[in-house]
Amino acid sequence: MIIVMRAHASSAQIEHVTSRIDALGFEVHLSQGAERTIIGVIGDERPLDRAMFEVMDGVERTISILPPYKLASREWRPEGSVIPVGDGAVGGPRLAMIAGPCSVESRGQLLEIAHAVKEAGATMLRGGAFKPRSSPYTFQGLGVEGLELLAEAREATGLPIVTEVMAPDKVELVAEFADVLQIGARNMQNYPLLQAVGKTRMPVLLKRGMMSTIEELLMSAEYILAGGNYQVMLCERGIRTFETYTRNTTDINAIAALKQLSHLPVIGDPSHSTGKWPLVIPVARAMVATGVDGLMVEVHHDPEHALSDGAQSLKPERFAALVQETRRIAEAVGRAV
Ligand code: PEP
Ligand code: MN
Repeated sequence: MIIVMRAHASSAQIEHVTSRIDALGFEVHLSQGAERTIIGVIGDERPLDRAMFEVMDGVERTISILPPYKLASREWRPEGSVIPVGDGAVGGPRLAMIAGPCSVESRGQLLEIAHAVKEAGATMLRGGAFKPRSSPYTFQGLGVEGLELLAEAREATGLPIVTEVMAPDKVELVAEFADVLQIGARNMQNYPLLQAVGKTRMPVLLKRGMMSTIEELLMSAEYILAGGNYQVMLCERGIRTFETYTRNTTDINAIAALKQLSHLPVIGDPSHSTGKWPLVIPVARAMVATGVDGLMVEVHHDPEHALSDGAQSLKPERFAALVQETRRIAEAVGRAV
C-alpha cells in the first residue's frame, strides 16, 4: 500500500502514520518529494483496512498495490489450474461441455436428456435438484429425489454430475451425489456457504452474481480457496444491465479478464446469459473464441413443458449443432472439444 500525505503535512503527522505501520509489523519506505511525502507500506497489505490510515490527520489518500485476492490470482499459479472431474479435467486443452436440464423434473425426463447430451458430445451432466427460484410458488426442484435421479443418470451414461447446493447444511448431502458442487449466482456472496464448500475437497462451479463485479467474484473464489479447497471453476452467466431484450448481458470482457487475472478455469453459460435459445449458439461461439475452458448449456427435449428455463433450453439436436460449431472455433484458438 502507498500512503500519500497532504502537501504541508507536519512531521508529527508523518511520524504518527509511520509508527502505526511499524506497530502493525510492516516495514516503512519513506519518500520525501518536493511537495509531498509518500509512505510505502512493505508487506502483504491484504489484512489491512486502508480506512485506518485514511482517517489520520495529514493523509490525503491511500493506494493498494496488491489485488485483494491472492490464492485466486494468476500470480499465485501462473500455469493455470487443471481440475480433475470424473475421467476428464477442466482447464486442460479439451473444453468441458456441461449440458442438461435446468431442473431435474422426472426420471424419464432426466434419463432421456442425459443420453441425448452424452450422444451429442457432453462431458458432464447438469441438473438442479435444489432450485433457487424467484417465486416461492414455482417449482422448487425435487430435492433428494432429484439427487438420486442424477446419480442414476451418471450410472447410465458415465457423465459426472454438476448440481447446485443452496445451503451450508446441505453441502454434505449434495456432495454425496454430485461430482461438482454448483454455487448459483444468487448465492455467490453467501459466505457461510462458500466456507462450507471450502471445507470439502470437491470441485466447485462458482457462478458470478448477476450484479457482482469481476473482483467480487474472485473474492468469493478466494473464500473457497482459503478453506483449502483449490478445485474452483468460475462461471460467467451474464450480468444485469439496462438491456431488457435479453435476460442478462453476456460479459465477454469478464471471460478475457478472468483468464488474465486468475489461474482458475472459466466456464461460460450462454443459456442464462441470454435467456433465449436462438441466441445460445452464437454466444457460445463467442465464449469459446474468447477463451473459456468449458460451456454449461441448458438442454431439454421438450422445452415447451420444461418446469424452469424452457425459453433458454436447446433441444438435443441443437445442442449437438452447438458442439459441432464450437469445435471448429475451439480448434482455431488452440483448444479442442
Ligand atoms: C442454473 O444454473 O440453473 C441457475 C439457477 O443459474 P444462475 O445461478 O446462474 O441463475
Ligand atoms: Mn436454469
